Amino acid sequence: MTAEAEGSASCGEECSEALERLETYLDGELPHEDIDDIREHLTACYPCTDRVSFEEQLRAIVRRECTDEAPPRLLLRIEEALSEGLPGSD
Ligand SMILES: [Zn+2]
Repeated sequence: MTAEAEGSASCGEECSEALERLETYLDGELPHEDIDDIREHLTACYPCTDRVSFEEQLRAIVRRECTDEAPPRLLLRIEEALSEGLPGSD
């Protein structure tokens, strides 16, 4: 990762990288350095912040519904529904 989007608030490569690590982050399995990276990004990036709170809520729900393990199919369905209903084409 070499490009630094200084002064630019637009979502780009950093976002995809942050989102890629998001799951690991939410699982609590991300190394501290990466956590700092993501947190830093999140403070500057609203779309990603939204996404994170979204996923956190999702996980909380799934955890409550299925005490063992979240069926991937359920997660997939929810994510699909969410991405379809996601706001923000501008
Ligand atoms: Zn972002």
